[in-house]
Amino acid sequence: MKLPEKLTKLKAYDPITGTYAVRLDANESYFDLPDVLKAKIADAIEQVDFNRYPDPFATEVVNAFAAYYNISPDCVCAGNGSDEIITLLLNCFMTRGQKLVTVSPDFSMYGVYASLAEIEVVTVPKKENLQIDMDALISACQQADAAVFSNPCNPTSLGVARSEIIRLVESAPECLIIVDEAYMDFWDESVLDLVTKYDNLIVLRTCSKAMGLAAVRMGFAVSDPYKTNLLRAAKSPYNCDAISQVICATVLRETSLLQHCRDEIIVQTQRLYASLTELAQRYTDIIDTVYAPRTNFVFVKTAYAREIFEQLEQAGIAVRCFPNGLRICAGTRREQTILLSELEKILQPD
Ligand SMILES: *Cc1c(COP(=O)(O)O)cnc(C)c1O
Repeated sequence: MKLPEKLTKLKAYDPITGTYAVRLDANESYFDLPDVLKAKIADAIEQVDFNRYPDPFATEVVNAFAAYYNISPDCVCAGNGSDEIITLLLNCFMTRGQKLVTVSPDFSMYGVYASLAEIEVVTVPKKENLQIDMDALISACQQADAAVFSNPCNPTSLGVARSEIIRLVESAPECLIIVDEAYMDFWDESVLDLVTKYDNLIVLRTCSKAMGLAAVRMGFAVSDPYKTNLLRAAKSPYNCDAISQVICATVLRETSLLQHCRDEIIVQTQRLYASLTELAQRYTDIIDTVYAPRTNFVFVKTAYAREIFEQLEQAGIAVRCFPNGLRICAGTRREQTILLSELEKILQPD
């Protein structure tokens, strides 16, 4: 039997596995949940009726999420990670052969989901400084059906100001603009509050990054109540399992803990940025640019990405390697000290 090429050409997402002393490759939070909160979660899980299907609308989670961001729960559809939401949006709002605009470099999964949905992808390259070329993006969106990009961006760590997102949304009213705000907890240019103002805007959020819940799969589409209801009707009914719902609802209610962790991660990211910048100034022939981050990771442009990546790997340190640079996630103070002393060893001429 012949299988479709859109399937056979795929390669499985290949995250780093194995044991590393220091993991700075997946943009996760370095905070695990405090023991008291884990105990609270364990109690809540005991109350779950394991023989029953979960709440199809993840009501408790959606309410806690909406309260945390001060938006209406009628605008929130929960999914099994924002990855599931991306597939859902493409399948719901687009039909085969329509045009989806992406930017490059950006989160690689957008293209994968689009090609499975048989959607044509139009890619707008970023400028030399890795910022989005907003005028080029606007003109591409004026001739397309939808666009998706991350803001702030994975992997560049750079952001687009809210005013520029508004300019885009207003300039292409017939194009659905999906803004993936997976890292917006670390910056403050969100357009979450605008989804009821613009009917061509959808915002994605996740519990996997700033919330420190990557193990639990929970992501959200935020859009006006009309589209939210359509998404709830189109998704698979039990996409979010009961255990994940209990965990997320419990954690999302811990407002001050979440804010504290986020603030600490921002401090550590700025420390990492400062240290890498200092290193770059001493090794200008090896490190090209260290970008000022709006996220919980730093992007380092270097022609020696592969070499540095492999040597770090041998030292038990995992970072993410791209053709033109390294993406290094903020870790604890201790992890950063280990990383920097290893980098120093690698860069030092013998
Ligand atoms: C990590 C990440 C996601 C994935 O989020 P999940 O909710 O864990 O599926 C989505 N978009 C971007 C840009 C990310 O970096």
